[in-house]
Amino acid sequence: MVVPSRVADRLLAETLGRPAMIEELRRLCDTVGGRTSGAPSGAEAEEWAIGLLSGWGLRVRTEDLPVRAWLRGDLEAEVRAPVRWRLTALAHGNAPSSADVTAPVVDVGHGEREDWERAAGEVTDRFALCDEAASEGRRKLHRTEKLAMAVEFGAAGLLIESSASGGLPRTGVCYHGEAPIPSVGISLEDGRRLRRLLESGVQPTVRVAMSNRFVDGVARTVLADIAGALAPEEAVIAGAHLDSWDVAQGAVDNGQGVAIVMEMARALAALGEAPRRTLRFALWAAEEVGLMGSTAYVANHAAELDRLAAVMNFDMTGDPTGFYTPGIAEPGDLLRGLARQLGPLGVREEFGRRASLHSDHQPFMLAGVPIVSVAGRLDEEAGRYYHAVGDTFDKVAAPAVCRAACVGATTMWALAEAPERPFARLSPAQVRAMVAEADLGEALAAMGVRLPED
Ligand SMILES: [Zn+2]
Repeated sequence: MVVPSRVADRLLAETLGRPAMIEELRRLCDTVGGRTSGAPSGAEAEEWAIGLLSGWGLRVRTEDLPVRAWLRGDLEAEVRAPVRWRLTALAHGNAPSSADVTAPVVDVGHGEREDWERAAGEVTDRFALCDEAASEGRRKLHRTEKLAMAVEFGAAGLLIESSASGGLPRTGVCYHGEAPIPSVGISLEDGRRLRRLLESGVQPTVRVAMSNRFVDGVARTVLADIAGALAPEEAVIAGAHLDSWDVAQGAVDNGQGVAIVMEMARALAALGEAPRRTLRFALWAAEEVGLMGSTAYVANHAAELDRLAAVMNFDMTGDPTGFYTPGIAEPGDLLRGLARQLGPLGVREEFGRRASLHSDHQPFMLAGVPIVSVAGRLDEEAGRYYHAVGDTFDKVAAPAVCRAACVGATTMWALAEAPERPFARLSPAQVRAMVAEADLGEALAAMGVRLPED
């Protein structure tokens, strides 16, 4: 066994036998709800986390993060011709503070580069309409990439059709800074109707008017440590983003990840015995508007990154099935042994290796720090409400949260206790190769992120 039974059994008893975080997550969802970093709701969530972590005896500190918070205002989105109807829509995060555009609609398919090239000329000064899907075998583009191309090809605005039926438009950040053109998520049903009209040769005209606010605020990254017994200067970080979209309660995205990380912290503190390296729990701020908290941590602690044995990220993590280890070529005896030890909880010897972006592992991964996350299966029902009004506490899968906390805590302990560092840090050249292999260059450019140089 990789983790001795005196430790593993106690972690199992804490996380599965007497979990505390489901009720605490309910309290966060119902009394705070959506959490905008830099706004009062974000500060209330930070206080909630600080209170719990300190109460369990962890050493808690915070790091200030200046943010320009985007506050949703009014939105009017309607089809003006050939018939009038109101679109079921949500403005995307960082959409302009003020816009009022009326223009014909052009279908740009999935919003991939070929789609824009095909529609070039036609799309200028019009609303571009695309969906959330990708062509066969292609990586799904992030909405920031689609908006970057909408701007490049001169569109007057962007409409992204939701992939979930039932009147569920999606929000989400669309631009690095204030977007130059209005961008909204619309329901699948509205998107389909617009496309059917276009296919039948009828040209719809849409009006989108919006007002939003940008306010300067200070969010806090909440950090809680259990000091290592033998090598306290080395650490394993387990993190989750605490902020969420304003339209719902941020229950699955990412209350679920927060609950897992905090349950891990509680169970590992209850052990009363520290492993070799420091265990650090991080609740990142402003992830939804561009991974700001984790990015600032990587920048501010650059000199300490060499001493990070691994970073674990929990974002909408579901029922554990294996591990996500981008950049790690060989999981080795430690992770293979852990997968076998955790087999009864549903973990298999599966190691996702392809690099991915858009969550808080990204800045660490690009700095070459080993990433060892728990991979899980999310309930299809919960995935439907991603960034939509239905992301509420009733969608949280309590058994999955408890099992993921158990797998996460056991894995974190093993990574922190291993006599030798389990994985080497990647060099800038290895990071660039990993990014190229996963075809992520354009996505990083749309986020304003530069790759490490030698
Ligand atoms: Zn998330």
